[in-house]
Amino acid sequence: MKLIMLGAPGAGKGTQASVLSEKYEVPHISTGDIFRANIKNGTDLGKKAKEYMDQGLLVPDELVVNLVVDRLQQEDAKKGYVLDGFPRTIPQAKALDAELEKQGAAIDYCVDVEVPDEVIVDRMSGRRVCPKCGEPYHHEFKIPKVDNVCDKDGETLILRKDDEPETVLKRLNVYHEQTQPLIDYYSSKGILVEVDGTKDVKGVTEQIVASLGEK
Ligand code: AMP
Repeated sequence: MKLIMLGAPGAGKGTQASVLSEKYEVPHISTGDIFRANIKNGTDLGKKAKEYMDQGLLVPDELVVNLVVDRLQQEDAKKGYVLDGFPRTIPQAKALDAELEKQGAAIDYCVDVEVPDEVIVDRMSGRRVCPKCGEPYHHEFKIPKVDNVCDKDGETLILRKDDEPETVLKRLNVYHEQTQPLIDYYSSKGILVEVDGTKDVKGVTEQIVASLGEK
């Protein structure tokens, strides 16, 4: 199974990607996670990516595409994958198509998790993350046992710079301008599946699995 997850930042595509990757036993490939790991390890790529991420902007295509192409060539990706956060622009989608053509492969479905902007802003302002282990929390959906403290290592939770309200609004604008055109791109290929992302996690997964089954 080769899947692409589309959706605004905070739509819950990462959560669904991880559920689907377990269900279909394929790797979950998140470009955001790859960048965050690079930032944590202080790599050159991490330093470059951070400049854009902290401002709510997309990392330039050339930094993203090579990284994903390398990842897709790894052994575990042969049987499939769930791509989370890639592609995010039309040039990235075209670069992915070119790589897949080389491999004689094709994406099975592109899942668009739809959530209105107001709901996104509300959700993201409640997110907190552990600065040490990266575990995500939410004041409504995933409450830590002790207020504002990581269950795993006792660190005080922080608001990710790219979850700050101003940055969220910018990321939503970037999404509408640069990523939303991919909905038409994959729709015209006949592989788009649209689901209502305002339901709870289980409800969204059920819609996705039912739609993939029908196709
Ligand atoms: P995410 O965790 O998917 O929301 O990604 C966090 C940030 O990483 C984004 O706001 C972008 O700055 C950057 N990023 C992740 N994936 C991509 C991509 N495919 N193209 C450009 N920037 C990306």
